[in-house]
Amino acid sequence: MKFTVMTLFPGLVETVCRESILGRAQSAGKIFVEAVDIRAYSKDKHRRVDDTPYGGGKGMLISAPVVYDCWADVKSRLEGSVRTIYMSPQGSLLTQRKAKELGRYDHLLLLCGHYEGIDARVVEEIADEEISIGDYVLTGGELPACILIDCVARLCPGVLADASCYESESIACGTLEYPQYTRPYEFHGKKVPDVLLNGNHAEIEKWRRAEALQLTLKKRPDLL
Ligand code: SAM
Repeated sequence: MKFTVMTLFPGLVETVCRESILGRAQSAGKIFVEAVDIRAYSKDKHRRVDDTPYGGGKGMLISAPVVYDCWADVKSRLEGSVRTIYMSPQGSLLTQRKAKELGRYDHLLLLCGHYEGIDARVVEEIADEEISIGDYVLTGGELPACILIDCVARLCPGVLADASCYESESIACGTLEYPQYTRPYEFHGKKVPDVLLNGNHAEIEKWRRAEALQLTLKKRPDLL
């Protein structure tokens, strides 16, 4: 699966995506992430990409032509199914279900705003949808884009060891996940529950299910 991020700050995206699991997945050819600098498409002699909003108000807006030219160029060299997404606090919330849905595309083209955002006309013209990572406002769409990439990429074949790694996890499994422990057996007087040590897989499964339901009831009753 391929992700192209259109941004004024490509270094931000590249830095995040070359670390840890995303970095390894890229090296192994399981996913491909590229950041395209919108500024490279500016026709202004000072490479300006923004301007003041009509009607007044504080802040600057990224102008429509430069975003359109960037998108059109990137799009012209893509193959397969492509979805253009504007990362925006006005979009629908990113959920595990949405991540799974997006995983069906060959290519996600993620547009990041900055400053006051982007001229609404070009968003309307090129974006298939707008996605928000939560009901708060950030300075730019780069971190939201990285979050979306992380969330979708881990569902791609070969990125994690196998599907069971994410299918049993919180939210994906419908509830929260059961608590997990590793060595040492005893930590600050707290011991690992005996049931996890007896090797009886049916009992362990039963215990995990009950714990998962209890935790969900306590922390996220809305999921039940
Ligand atoms: N003026 C815009 C508004 O009120 O809707 C907010 C602009 S915000 C300061 C700058 C950019 O950050 C946006 O264009 C968007 O790309 C990104 N952004 C901010 N919050 C976001 C969120 N919760 N989810 C996704 N993207 C977000």
